Amino acid sequence: MTESADIAPARAPAATSDERIRVTTGAVPTRGFDHAKLTAGVRLLFEGLGIDAEAPGTRDTPQRVARMFDEIFAGLLIEPADVLDVVFEEGHDELVLIRDIPFSSMCEHHLIPFVGHAHVGYLPNTAGQVTGLSKLARLVDLVAKRPNLQERITTTIADTLEKALSPRGVLVVIEAEHYCMTMRGIRKPGAVTVTSAVRGLMRDDPRTRAEAMALAFGARRPIA
Ligand SMILES: [Zn+2]
Repeated sequence: MTESADIAPARAPAATSDERIRVTTGAVPTRGFDHAKLTAGVRLLFEGLGIDAEAPGTRDTPQRVARMFDEIFAGLLIEPADVLDVVFEEGHDELVLIRDIPFSSMCEHHLIPFVGHAHVGYLPNTAGQVTGLSKLARLVDLVAKRPNLQERITTTIADTLEKALSPRGVLVVIEAEHYCMTMRGIRKPGAVTVTSAVRGLMRDDPRTRAEAMALAFGARRPIA
């Protein structure tokens, strides 16, 4: 065997805005961003900072940043509920929980990143309707990829799940580090902000909530 199977093939960079958004979100956008405005905005930013926007290092930055927004703000272009449309009648009516879903977002107050993990769980309805596991991770991704607040990401994920799956309960816990608390302001690197949203039985039944919380925060063991 001459070819190394374990080396992933290089992926060609997505050429168009639509392709970038499709690759990032797995969904087809119905609209796009105004790249001319985004590019002009970054030029203006350089001007305000007194930076030469035509220097070799910065000449392509405005267009590059505009293309980057296709990826980091792609969630503005897709309705989060649309990714939860696959529902299986599995007859599974017990807790489904994915923990440690990594995400990154941008604080809408400072346009600085905050990064962390989401733990998302739900109790299917009595018909046992569940969605694909990857859809939960996709949902977190889409909601995070907007200028946002951690609190709103948390409630949006819970509300979207509740609406799409009519589950008996929902639990969403998010832990994140905010760079607007690290690079500026109070300057506390390592401080972790934790937010939660609970719905249905996860809110009303302490035992159910305790079980979900124990699974979300239980000891980490190697899976394999
Ligand atoms: Zn902030």
